[in-house]
Amino acid sequence: MPNTPTAAKLPRHGSARAPRRARAMAAPQAERFLRLLAANNPAPETELSYHDPFTLLVAVVLSAQTTDAAVNKCTPSLFAAAPTPAGMAALGAEGIAPHIRRIGLWQAKARNVGALAAKLVAEHGAEVPRERAALEALPGVGRKTANVVLNVAFGEATMAVDTHIFRLGNRTGLAPGRTPRAVEEGIVRKCPPDLLRDAHHWLILHGRYVCKARTPECWRCPATAACNYRDKVSSPVG
Ligand code: SF4
Repeated sequence: MPNTPTAAKLPRHGSARAPRRARAMAAPQAERFLRLLAANNPAPETELSYHDPFTLLVAVVLSAQTTDAAVNKCTPSLFAAAPTPAGMAALGAEGIAPHIRRIGLWQAKARNVGALAAKLVAEHGAEVPRERAALEALPGVGRKTANVVLNVAFGEATMAVDTHIFRLGNRTGLAPGRTPRAVEEGIVRKCPPDLLRDAHHWLILHGRYVCKARTPECWRCPATAACNYRDKVSSPVG
């Protein structure tokens, strides 16, 4: 999963000027926007490969500032070598590192994964805790990672704001905000509860494949009728 953004930066998409700020959506329009995405992908899923809450947690930690596809190339050998918290703790950072050398920040991630596995064994009976505070107390785990684990592993209606959702929230007017937390709170406030869990996936996948950072592909967007972006791109650029 791409990195968590830290500042409000709206991307350019090839024009000489910056895109204009979108009008914020009211809740009914936000629901319409999300339902248009939902109709296009009724059963969305994470693109990270995992087997259980522990391997999901490790995969999400590894995905910081790295694509899911890159993580999925590393995790089969890592999870085969250490499928449990005890196994991963025994492997330790030195044993984890050779499996993940192809992804960014691999040294810090190897240390964090070894340490979080040891903490799960020591403090949580080798289980992934279901409480946000306990998750965020694990090495390498912040609010975004905790939200993904709570959503995907435990079925909770959380909104993990990564760089794609942060961009979408601001670009479309869905939930403008200067910080990931502000965008998260805006989406949670406007999104009907029955849509919130899947909204996380709809928005990430939409940002990854259609409403892209450099050039949003509005000409093939299923939610264009409900989007407030003022510089929609009507045909492929270049
Ligand atoms: S219309 Fe364009 S800017 Fe709006 S959500 Fe679709 S791709 Fe993104």
